[in-house]
Amino acid sequence: MKLEKPQDVLLLGPGPSPVHPRILEAMGQHTLGHLDPDFLTITDQTCALLRFVFETENQITFPVSGTGSAGMEAALVNIVEPGDKVLIGVNGVFGQRMADVASRCGAEVVEVEGEWGKPIDPEALEKKLSAHNGVQLIGLVHAETSTGAQQPLEPVVELARRHDALLLVDTVTSLGGLPVAVDRRDLDLVYSGNQKCLGAPPGLAPITFGERALRKFRNRKSKVQSWYLDLSFLTRYWGEERFYHHTAPINMIYALFEALSLIKEEGLDDRFARHKKNSRALISGLEALGIKPVVAEEHRLASLNAVRIPENVDDQQVRSRLRRDHLIEIGGGLGPFKGKVWRIGLMGHGSRRENVERLLKALALTLNELGYSCSGEEAFAEAGKVYQA
Ligand SMILES: *Cc1c(COP(=O)(O)O)cnc(C)c1O
Repeated sequence: MKLEKPQDVLLLGPGPSPVHPRILEAMGQHTLGHLDPDFLTITDQTCALLRFVFETENQITFPVSGTGSAGMEAALVNIVEPGDKVLIGVNGVFGQRMADVASRCGAEVVEVEGEWGKPIDPEALEKKLSAHNGVQLIGLVHAETSTGAQQPLEPVVELARRHDALLLVDTVTSLGGLPVAVDRRDLDLVYSGNQKCLGAPPGLAPITFGERALRKFRNRKSKVQSWYLDLSFLTRYWGEERFYHHTAPINMIYALFEALSLIKEEGLDDRFARHKKNSRALISGLEALGIKPVVAEEHRLASLNAVRIPENVDDQQVRSRLRRDHLIEIGGGLGPFKGKVWRIGLMGHGSRRENVERLLKALALTLNELGYSCSGEEAFAEAGKVYQA
């Protein structure tokens, strides 16, 4: 049996995001050996491009084999030792996952809970930091994909420095879509994933370790409990020595290389501006349909637009019709947002005017079919105003 060609579905959910044809073409090239000199050149170039996108000079910057969650595990498993005190901001699914992973590393986890759809309040963090002496690491999600909220990082960096704690940031849904700026912000440990704003297919998790994080790693007393993700092995392959540990996912690295090259060609600032503009146009259009955003404007993510499903509209019916009749995927809500919220991703190559317009049209048609009356033309016109401004 031969693979039946998958349909060209427009991916406007919480990830994976649409993959640029240049990336798919790069993935289809000949597989080289993982120690082949030509492939090693590509790995060096990929790491240099990652430093560009992370905006860092950190030497230890490379893609972990595995999806975004492997980046999360790689960060925590290498830095956290049993008994360490770790403070995690939990205002959505991914903060919760980070707390879970930290506890599996044997950490004493202190959770700072926040309302879904809002960032974690730095004052709440500060309170817990003072109440629990000796916190060694603060973990936060920059772009909480389950809620569409963006975490301001500057006040937390300041807190981390004052309390002598490391700052770990999940940038899975921000890297390549909004500024992460590792060095400018002085973030200690940052990971991401291929398939959100970087725009490659899932399979790699870029990560970068700053000097303070490395110091904590080097001073470990216990063995890293994951053989696969042990940084001392990984850096021997990704560093000068080129020591075999596990086989690098060659064609995935081609894909990441191409995705990062596309970002470099576009320029970070232009790319961030594009994400912002398309998100604003989408929200304007949706508001004309009577659909309201979940997150207040100042904390709204450009890459993931969470919006409230109107009363008496069935979540599943709308999403399955969008997929069946219009070949568009959008995301449903998780946890307390299940059935109440749609998550519309405009990430990487997906963040384009034609996609915003195609979704607004298809959504208006679908809603009218299901008895919710609204004007697609009006939505289209409102979105258009954003592009003309
Ligand atoms: C998607 C996502 C992850 C997990 O990535 P996977 O590729 O699904 O393993 C982690 N954190 C955030 C914020 C995400 O959006």
